[in-house]
Amino acid sequence: MNAPTEITEADERALLDSIDRWLIKKVAPVADAFEQADEYPHELVADMCEMGLFGALIEPEYGGLGLSALTYAKIVSRISEEWMSLTGFFNSHLMMALVVQKFGTERQKDHWLPKFATGELRGGLGLTEADAGTDLQGIRATARREGDRYRVNGAKLWITNAIEGDILALLVKTDPEATPRHRGMTMLIVPTRDPETRQDLPGVRRGRKLAKLGYRGIDTGEIVFEDYLCDADLALVGGEEGQGFAMATGGLEIGRVNVAARGVGIARRALKESVAYAQVRKSMGKPIAEHQAIQLKLGEMAAKTRAAELLTEDAARAYDGGGRVDLEAGMAKWFATETAFEVATEAMRIFGANGYSKEYPIERLYRDAPLLIIGEGTNEMQRIIIARRLIARYPV
Ligand SMILES: Cc1cc2nc3c(=O)[nH]c(=O)nc-3n(C[C@H](O)[C@H](O)[C@H](O)COP(=O)(O)OP(=O)(O)OC[C@H]3O[C@@H](n4cnc5c(N)ncnc54)[C@H](O)[C@@H]3O)c2cc1C
Repeated sequence: MNAPTEITEADERALLDSIDRWLIKKVAPVADAFEQADEYPHELVADMCEMGLFGALIEPEYGGLGLSALTYAKIVSRISEEWMSLTGFFNSHLMMALVVQKFGTERQKDHWLPKFATGELRGGLGLTEADAGTDLQGIRATARREGDRYRVNGAKLWITNAIEGDILALLVKTDPEATPRHRGMTMLIVPTRDPETRQDLPGVRRGRKLAKLGYRGIDTGEIVFEDYLCDADLALVGGEEGQGFAMATGGLEIGRVNVAARGVGIARRALKESVAYAQVRKSMGKPIAEHQAIQLKLGEMAAKTRAAELLTEDAARAYDGGGRVDLEAGMAKWFATETAFEVATEAMRIFGANGYSKEYPIERLYRDAPLLIIGEGTNEMQRIIIARRLIARYPV
């Protein structure tokens, strides 16, 4: 079971309302400036730590909020309506935390999870390399056991929270010759920064923060390990080598629910902005909302946005119910993110030239949406996963 803590509807509403107030008061006035400067919003990250978002899915016994995936998805979609990048700080971190919570030893959970829940240690998931994204089994980073330590070598690219973060769940090969290849893959929890001095630990080299089309402000970058040494007992998730591929690809469907929820947020904001704009912008003597060409767009945008919300809620409920949910999570991820892309594009058309301007919110939504199609398993792969799961569920 992915057993969530029961919270009442009233508690959930209070939590979402407090996030809404924060979005209006603290985020809305500064989001554009940080986004356009591609600057890390330290104060907003500190606020999110204080609100408990870095522990949103960590169990209360370790100091987290232990929220259900359903409540979590609602939080992610609301924040994404205002500025999607903010959800990346805590979601990448929670993906790392869930690796420990789901697969870690008792000692690892006791050691890491309380520090993750408060945001005292913040991190992410280090899977991708320059030559291995979808084909994760093609990674080249290695870890070799030397007594009670691991020696790690390799370079990870496109890693969120890699530059400002303190720690990573790192996918490596402990047996590069293994066949099938996944049998030689292992997940390690590797601190990258000295908590006292904030200096990089020996053997860690942070590369460049990548310049991106959207999803700006947050640090996505390169991190290199050169003869880096870590404590094997605390690092080797679950205490067993060869389980890393399963940890990276299975049991973490919450990542896809999160991306779907981001898509819902983008689509919802683009729709709301379009409905409002179409009523005030006039052409041929009347609001463009009275032209059927615009009504056709709004109708389709609204129906697809609602369908994306429902599929995302459906996947979140399935996750909360436990078991394998890659079918539901894959459907939600694919549909909600394609919808975000389409609705943002339609909003751009409705806004005309103003959609192309940085003075209106549409161009940011339009730039943020494509990441969702690529991250957490590309949408090509989602449809393949859906088909495979269907065939496995309904064999003839
Ligand atoms: C902003 C951003 C943040 C990211 N953050 C992280 C992070 O925190 N941690 C992390 O580990 N990674 C992260 N990533 C990497 C992301 O997970 C990868 O980009 C993604 O897995 C796709 O890999 P790729 O880019 O190498 O594409 P490729 O694997 O090169 O794929 C290229 C194209 O080929 C298709 N393709 C590939 N293989 C197949 C196949 N077998 N069948 C059908 N089609 C296929 C793909 O669908 C895609 O269309 C991030 C990426 C971005 C853009």
